[in-house]
Amino acid sequence: MIPHDHPRYRSLKVREHLARCVKEGILSLEGLTAHGRGEAFDYLIGERTTESALQAERSAAALLLIARKPVISVNGNTAALAPGGIALLQQASNAAVEVNLFHRTDERVRKITCLLEKYGVQVLKGEGDRLLPLSHDRAFCLKEGIGAADVVLVPLEDGDRCQALREMGKTVIAIDLNPLSRTAMCASLTIVDEVTRALPGITQFCRELTKEEAQIFSTKYNNREILRSAIQEIHSRLDHALD
Ligand code: ATP
Ligand code: MG
Repeated sequence: MIPHDHPRYRSLKVREHLARCVKEGILSLEGLTAHGRGEAFDYLIGERTTESALQAERSAAALLLIARKPVISVNGNTAALAPGGIALLQQASNAAVEVNLFHRTDERVRKITCLLEKYGVQVLKGEGDRLLPLSHDRAFCLKEGIGAADVVLVPLEDGDRCQALREMGKTVIAIDLNPLSRTAMCASLTIVDEVTRALPGITQFCRELTKEEAQIFSTKYNNREILRSAIQEIHSRLDHALD
């Protein structure tokens, strides 16, 4: 039992929830380690949405709104942390949702699909094909889903797949707390924010942006600058940590 007045109450509750998701077969054990890396970077950026992340969320919404075929790629961590957030973003953006897993089994895909559907997400289904040039199972995707997408939102991505998607000519929007990861560096647009904060942020912008604004913000971003701001944010927090 975690006491309500514990200073890290939310973080501890999330860990408890994720441990349960492992037992239920939604999250892989390795997913817990990935979450730990995310937590560490979240500590460093102050566990809040920075101004530059907010701007990235606005550009992400713009890219989703003007896309011909936007797809949100969901893995175990994202499904465990934010099934409701995915549902609301899908409603606001009209994006398709596809389950894509590193530790892929039919059973896990089915369980994650069920969980998302319980929250109102419409999930693409079918036999995946090895459409991406990768030696692991994230290569599997649906021809009519990620295969046909022009814009792919990839929360908590692996660097290899991000690169493969870019090489296929797709615009890749990553949500990744680590501004130094290969994913963050390789994505077209990186949102350096925690996934449960980033998704509602993008959703809000999807609801608010006009067509004209979406056109403007879909081109008005510079990923190097976004990453530089995130690194500077960490730098300055470390500089002043003992003040
Ligand atoms: P890469 O493959 O891009 O070089 P990596 O191998 O270090 O990155 P992965 O395990 O492939 O990392 O992906 C997990 C990434 O997701 C990490 O960079 C981690 O910081 C990030 N992450 C974990 N939890 C969250 C979260 N809740 N919100 C946002 N990002 C997160
Ligand atoms: Mg990786």
